[in-house]
Amino acid sequence: MEMSRSSFRLLLLGFLLVSSYAASDSVYDTFVQCLSNHSAPSHQASSIVYAQTNSSFTNVLRSYIRNERFNTSSTPKPLIIVTPSDESQVQAAIICSRDIGILLKIRSGGHDYDGLSYVSDIPFFILDMFNLRSINVNITDETAWVQAGATLGELYYRIWEKSSVHGFPAGVCPTLGVGGHLSGGGYGNMLRKHGLSIDHIVDAQIINVNGSILDRKSMGEDLFWAIRGGGGASFGVILSYKVKLVRVPEIVTVFRVEKTLAQNATDLVYQWQHITDKIDNDLFMRLLLQPIMVKSDNGSAKAQKSSKTVRETFISLFLGDATRLVSVMNKDFPELGLKKEDFMEMSWIESVLYWANFNNGTSVNVLLNRTLESEKYFKAKSDHVQKPISKDGLEGLWKKMIELGKTGWCSIHTEGE
Ligand SMILES: Cc1cc2nc3c(=O)[nH]c(=O)nc-3n(C[C@H](O)[C@H](O)[C@H](O)COP(=O)(O)OP(=O)(O)OC[C@H]3O[C@@H](n4cnc5c(N)ncnc54)[C@H](O)[C@@H]3O)c2cc1C
Repeated sequence: MEMSRSSFRLLLLGFLLVSSYAASDSVYDTFVQCLSNHSAPSHQASSIVYAQTNSSFTNVLRSYIRNERFNTSSTPKPLIIVTPSDESQVQAAIICSRDIGILLKIRSGGHDYDGLSYVSDIPFFILDMFNLRSINVNITDETAWVQAGATLGELYYRIWEKSSVHGFPAGVCPTLGVGGHLSGGGYGNMLRKHGLSIDHIVDAQIINVNGSILDRKSMGEDLFWAIRGGGGASFGVILSYKVKLVRVPEIVTVFRVEKTLAQNATDLVYQWQHITDKIDNDLFMRLLLQPIMVKSDNGSAKAQKSSKTVRETFISLFLGDATRLVSVMNKDFPELGLKKEDFMEMSWIESVLYWANFNNGTSVNVLLNRTLESEKYFKAKSDHVQKPISKDGLEGLWKKMIELGKTGWCSIHTEGE
């Protein structure tokens, strides 16, 4: 009896799979037909649309899944994936999804913490922007037009190709997509000096639900304001942003220093909270808190014992040279006890690699690699601490982190004044 019940379940599952594939096939045909009707005759619509039955479907889908939590067999899959290579195909894809009545999820870099760009509980298509990633840097007027499917690494690289004294204030992870990152805000290690990425957007191209391409002038200031922080997908498909570059010095300075609880870390974190928003605006200091195991050395190897502690890592970017950083640190944060030997001078683009955890001497070309990290299972959340945490509060935090053990990490940084 049990045997036949499970056979029945398998049969039912098979039937559901077949019927979902069949449904996706007919949606595919309707969509491709609609796309052909709305595209230039030279465009072969079928070459940019992947049905579930296409042997490349899974590969294309997974290419920009950056969180393993959403890379399981039970994660809802799109009926089709559209990968436009020019704006007219994006226009056609929007019109056709609207006409067929299927939700269109827009994906640029795929780094959404909750997979919002490629997961949905109702039937959906994915509009994958990875082919739209051209970057046009104009050093004369210090701007760049960057398409939504470009990564931050590609943007940093193209700026560096043209100038060693320009940069852009955005995230520290080079594979973040411009489409999601810039429409959501964008903070990075030049935050204190230059604010968010969106503070440097001067124009944009967006396609609305009717398939019209709008720029800043034709969309109006309200919509232009909304797509700088409100998340692009609520308003249309962002094609590209025009950003104003910022000046960076020829030489910047970085440091990374680790302290454990036994090294007075609680006092340092407490102190850090009081100075980090007032210290020189050229200095950004991120604090990374992690529970770790340490070996206590009782003389003989046999007597070594492992115990848990919390490690604080101060990671920093200073927009200036090491000599000036020494005087900034001596004046405002002498408790950290840093000397010039603890600092490393480098170019701004090298600091991008340093912050992305590449070894010293790694070629800048690595920024053009769109699939750098191995995907992980994770859940991330941000909170905004408005008043310094008391020493008791910090000790409570350490206790919880040690108790939980493997919690990933917790990072604190400040926006400054
Ligand atoms: C490992 C990691 C590191 C991160 N580091 C930082 C950091 O240093 N600083 C920081 O500020 N943030 C950081 N983030 C958060 C990140 O900026 C956001 O998750 C951002 O939305 C990712 O953009 P994306 O294009 O890569 O993601 P996607 O998943 O492609 O898109 C995110 C959202 O934007 C929408 N969207 C994407 N493209 C478009 C488009 N062209 N038009 C309209 N809507 C669109 C999607 O539909 C989705 O809702 C990090 C995230 C991860 C996972």
